[in-house]
This record gives sequence, structure tokens and C-alpha cells, in this order.
Amino acid sequence: MSYDVIIAGAGPAGTAAAITLLNRGRKVLLIDRQSFPRDKVCGDGILPGASALLARLGLEDQMQSANFYPIHGARIYSPNGNKVDWFVRPINPIHKFYIAPRHKFDNLLYQHAKQLGAITITAPVTGVIRTGRTIRGIKILKNNREEKLIAPIVIGADGATSVIYRSLVTQQHRIKPEVIAIRAYLKNFKIIPNHIEAFALKSLFPNGAWIFPTGPNSANVGFGIDIARYQSQNLSMKELLHQFLSDSRIKSRIGLDPNPKDIKTWPYTLSTSQSIQVAYDGAVLVGDAAALMDPFTGEGIKNALLSGIIAGETISDALSAHDISKAFLTKYEQRCEQEIKTTIRRSIKLKNSLVLTPQILNTSIKLMNRFKSPTAKLFNRLSTNFEFLSQ
Ligand SMILES: Cc1cc2nc3c(=O)[nH]c(=O)nc-3n(C[C@H](O)[C@H](O)[C@H](O)COP(=O)(O)OP(=O)(O)OC[C@H]3O[C@@H](n4cnc5c(N)ncnc54)[C@H](O)[C@@H]3O)c2cc1C
Repeated sequence: MSYDVIIAGAGPAGTAAAITLLNRGRKVLLIDRQSFPRDKVCGDGILPGASALLARLGLEDQMQSANFYPIHGARIYSPNGNKVDWFVRPINPIHKFYIAPRHKFDNLLYQHAKQLGAITITAPVTGVIRTGRTIRGIKILKNNREEKLIAPIVIGADGATSVIYRSLVTQQHRIKPEVIAIRAYLKNFKIIPNHIEAFALKSLFPNGAWIFPTGPNSANVGFGIDIARYQSQNLSMKELLHQFLSDSRIKSRIGLDPNPKDIKTWPYTLSTSQSIQVAYDGAVLVGDAAALMDPFTGEGIKNALLSGIIAGETISDALSAHDISKAFLTKYEQRCEQEIKTTIRRSIKLKNSLVLTPQILNTSIKLMNRFKSPTAKLFNRLSTNFEFLSQ
């Protein structure tokens, strides 16, 4: 069987690329090491920018029918325990904000790609095949034997621990994951209805913890911590999670079943202002494999979807032009700069001014509370898809 494109990884980035290519009549092979539905460590927050992209991919109805838990606001705690509450409202009805457990969410994208004609294989990708500098295909492990699969273009969509990224970039130039996260689900938990909670804790600074409601009595909870900081203390990730859950703001809200479920850890890389190369001869990187997670909010699904869409559009043009060279695929890199990296650089600036030290964050949250209306106006100048309400 011959394919136009091989996509390694069927998360949001890989499936968005697949759907975009399939809608343009391209033959797509979508490979994932896990069979779907599968879990992915995440806060499960689908923010308004991501839901607009899902509508663009034709998934609005599926997302609506899935009845994911809607969010209308956020409570943010500063390191010294002060809090600020925000209500948010979509600017356009397609800009929905909800919590969608990835087990279900990713499967909707995966099944949609399959329905459109993606050929799927469940197997780990182990590396790329090259002729000179050009990527010709990938290697997979099937029944303990290595198989080679060939296509004009390969998309590396295999997430934060990407094998494709590691095959393309020399060790000396590689960005390594710098944060480790833990995520669990709580049942019978007293949530703040339709509100996410974000905790800036001194012990995790500059990362934080979250409680995202998945339903009226359940939540996704977790936190991220710099790997260097984690290694310099004595508690395990699980012990740190239990420490967080015994915080007085949380403990009293845990019901009869206090044991968190589906506890998992995950390393990740936040995007930096330095650009990593995402276009190669015969290959591109998308989503977390291209380190596109927002460094301020931790949001990654939107940029995974957007990079997948842009990659799909550029690759379809490259196939029409019979030109799979890096020179042509650099158009993808340029669009990533304009449509994704600009926002990332703004996030870095915001993070560097608000989250520089715990004291600055304490003061910022105190001031936000005192001057809610001007703060809402300022945020609304930056926000493109939802509006902050001062009350
Ligand atoms: C703790 C945590 C909380 C987060 N919370 C949020 C949030 O609330 N909202 C948000 O928008 N973003 C959040 N993110 C970021 C978000 O999870 C990622 O940015 C997003 O999943 C990236 O999508 P992706 O498709 O690039 O990668 P992934 O979703 O990681 O998908 C990669 C796919 O590749 C497959 N794969 C990996 N290696 C191989 C291999 N060798 N062979 C074959 N297949 C392979 C995997 O099985 C997986 O299916 C969070 C991240 C973390 C770590």
C-alpha cells in the first residue's frame, strides 16, 4: 500500500494534520503506539481557541454531543493564599471552554480521522529512514520485528518524548523536558461549579497545581514541578500529590472515596522564545514534538491542533508542487512563527512580568482583586476569543 503522508502519533496534533490532509484528498497512514481510546496526562482543559479549531476540523457536533463539562470562570490562588475569581464569556459561540478527559476527547478526533479514510496502525515508531538528508519514511516495531514504511513526507506528532524529534535533531541541539507533572482523577469531590482552580504554590514555583472539574462531582487534579527542583527534594511525586490534596482548601471537599484514581506522571517541555527547527527535507514536527506548549498557561492542545492544520495545508501544497524539500516545507515553519510563536512570545513576556517571584505574583493577584475592572479591560485587550468580566 502507498501513502502520501505517514503521521507518527495520533494525539491532537497528528489527528488534526490527518483530518486536514484527508479533506484535501491525500492518503494518510496514522500510527500510534497505543490503541484508542487511550489516556494522556493532561488537565483536560479545552480552551476557547482550541474549540474554534475543532469546529474548523468539522468536530463541533461530536464535541457538543459528548457533553463535556462547561467552564465559565476561574479561581486563582496566589502563593500566600489570596484568591481572585474571574468569570469569562466566549466572544463567539464557537469559542467554548470545557473539560474533556483525553481518553474520550482524543478518541473523537481519532475516529473522525478514521471515518475520513485514515489507515491506522498500532505500533511504536522507532526511528526514521533517510537517504542523505532526506527523510524517506519510518521504522516501526511489529510483532518484535522492525518494519520499514515509506512515504513522501513524515509528520512527527509523537508528543513530548518524540522519537522523530530525537531522530532529526542532534543530541547537542535537543531541548530536554524540564518539567514533570502528575495527574489524577477525584470522584465525589466538591468542585466550584463551572470554575477551574489554579494554585500558585511556593513549593512548585514557577509551576503550579490545578483542579479542573470533569463533572458536577468529579475533578482532574495535578501539578507540575521543575525536574531539577523535584530531584533536589525527598518526596516522590505521589507524596507531593497527597501533600497538595491535604491542603485545607481541598481536604474538606474530598468525599468518602479519598483515593485519587488513574495517577500518572509525565515529562514535558514548555515552549521557549528560541525557535526549534520544525521543517526538514521530507519531514515536519507538530504539537508537543515541536515544543509548542504555551509557557504561561500550560495550554498545548490549541497549538497542537493549529500546527497540525498548518502542517496538513502546507504538505498538501508540497505534494501538489512535487516538492517535499525543506525549502518548500519552510512555509510551515514561517506560518508557525506568525500564527503560533507570536502568541508564545507574548505569553513569555506575561509570565516574566507576573510570575517572576512568588512575591510579585502575590502583589499582582492582590492588585487584580482591588482593580478588577481595569484588569479585566487589560486582559480583554490581550484575549482574542473570550471576555473577562469584572464581576
Ligand atoms: C500535566 C499536563 C497538563 C496539561 N493540561 C493541559 C490542558 O488542560 N489544556 C491544554 O490545552 N493542554 C494541556 N497540556 C498540554 C497537552 O497535553 C499537550 O500539549 C497536547 O497533548 C499535545 O498534543 P500532541 O498531539 O502534540 O501530543 P500527545 O497528545 O502527547 O500525542 C502524542 C501521541 O503520540 C503517540 N506516540 C508517542 N510516542 C510514539 C512512538 N514512538 N510511536 C508511536 N506513537 C507514539 C502517543 O501515544 C500519543 O497518542 C497539558 C500537559 C501536561 C503534561
